[in-house]
Amino acid sequence: MKRDGVRTLYELSRPGRCGVELPTCDVPETPLAEELVRADNGLPSVSQLDVVRHYQALSQRNFGVDSGFYPLGSCTMKYNPKVNEVVARLPGFTDVHPLQEPDTVPGCLSLMYRLQNWLSELAGLAATSLQPAAGAQGELTALLMMRAYFDDRGDSGRTQVLIPDSAHGTNPASTSMAGLHVLQLPSDERGNVDLGALRAACDDTVLGLMITNPNTLGLFEEQILEVVQLVHDCGGLVYGDGANMNALAGVVRPGDLGIDVMHYNLHKTFSTPHGGGGPGSGPVSASAELAPYLPGPVVAQADTRTDDGSDNESGGPVASGEDELVLITPARSIGPMCAYHGSFGMLVRAYAYIRAHGAEGLRQNSLHAVLNANTLRVLLDDTFPTAYPRACMHELVVSGHLEGSDVRALDISKRLIDHGFHPPTNYFPLIVAEALMIEPTETESRETLEAFVQAMKDIAREAVAQPELLTAAPHSAPVSRLDEVRAARHPILREPTPPSDDPSDDVQE
Ligand SMILES: *Cc1c(COP(=O)(O)O)cnc(C)c1O
Repeated sequence: MKRDGVRTLYELSRPGRCGVELPTCDVPETPLAEELVRADNGLPSVSQLDVVRHYQALSQRNFGVDSGFYPLGSCTMKYNPKVNEVVARLPGFTDVHPLQEPDTVPGCLSLMYRLQNWLSELAGLAATSLQPAAGAQGELTALLMMRAYFDDRGDSGRTQVLIPDSAHGTNPASTSMAGLHVLQLPSDERGNVDLGALRAACDDTVLGLMITNPNTLGLFEEQILEVVQLVHDCGGLVYGDGANMNALAGVVRPGDLGIDVMHYNLHKTFSTPHGGGGPGSGPVSASAELAPYLPGPVVAQADTRTDDGSDNESGGPVASGEDELVLITPARSIGPMCAYHGSFGMLVRAYAYIRAHGAEGLRQNSLHAVLNANTLRVLLDDTFPTAYPRACMHELVVSGHLEGSDVRALDISKRLIDHGFHPPTNYFPLIVAEALMIEPTETESRETLEAFVQAMKDIAREAVAQPELLTAAPHSAPVSRLDEVRAARHPILREPTPPSDDPSDDVQE
């Protein structure tokens, strides 16, 4: 397979070439059983330098936050401080086993305990479980908790989940996965939940509402208090999709708005790495009423342990008196959502990030994220106006439709690659035609934002004067337009090897 300039190790292979020289064997040789030895495995024969150059070249084909501006809306591709990685690699964290006796890993328990408390405090909620391994798994967790809560009260007729049309696609997906029904709510002309439609939908079949605030238009729900009240009045619960906490952390506590349960995306707001299928982390925070249903284990103080998961009334960071930490399962727990303690390495990184910034630092980050998005909004407004003309939060959604041109949002995005930028999110949310969803994050400088605006304006001019520059873009990338559906459905995940009779060779890893 040709990889546009990067030759495969099989192409580089020369018979007899070798990358390592093994030391002389100083122990008795034990021959392997015949059936374990294969001569026809077709491994390439290459030098160390061939291997280093091959992988170095491939790594440089990657576009990441460390290589350039990555305004992929909704994903919060902010800079991950390198100190997080240093901390996550400390042997005390990497060399432990999840099945070790808890009293042999007091440091790990302490880290989890503090992180639980900090997330509870930022949420304005009673307790937190660090278990869920992604935002979407946090959503499913919360829905299962809500259902268990009503089942315990003998109120099992609640099967409807209200979801605004500005919600992230994972919300309806999680709802179906939990065996519940989605009832979609329209947005009003300001991009808020339509209160009339909400009022009409609220009855005793409603399990709850899933609300993202700021919503995926990047807009703060202006009537959030009325929205929450309407749902509570019909007996339902309110779930907050906290993936967009990058706009709110340290400024607004969802619990104060009446949210009963929410998830965080540590791999967005708290700067742990994401993308490429790496591990996520989607802790769930809940009110005192829902805390007993949290997935376990959670970390609690041995002396104050109440077995209902709501032992941290103070909610604040605990500096001392935490030497007797234990793992407990909350009293009415829905059970574990994944193996052991969630994505522990991500917890370490988020811990390091919160410690490094402190409360005031987190608040400043939120304010700067909102400032950066509004800077882009104002600078882009004459060329790419937002779909709903009002101040945005941490991201903005503009239309890629340009007067006098029929290029599409996708063409603009592909052309941005030639200008050295990662494209924004395309065609999402669905309620904006030719949507381009742009999230700059607080970690970008004014100069970067201005350079991006310049590129967008240059592209808008090209779209009219030379549209083929856009429709055939990118011109600078090693590969141009990919068949993304085929790439997802039929991935080729390994080097083609010389033909073999062994049928197991056809298995794709
Ligand atoms: C990213 C995101 C999610 C899903 O999080 P994953 O970790 O990707 O599962 C849910 N809701 C919103 C608003 C998001 O931006």
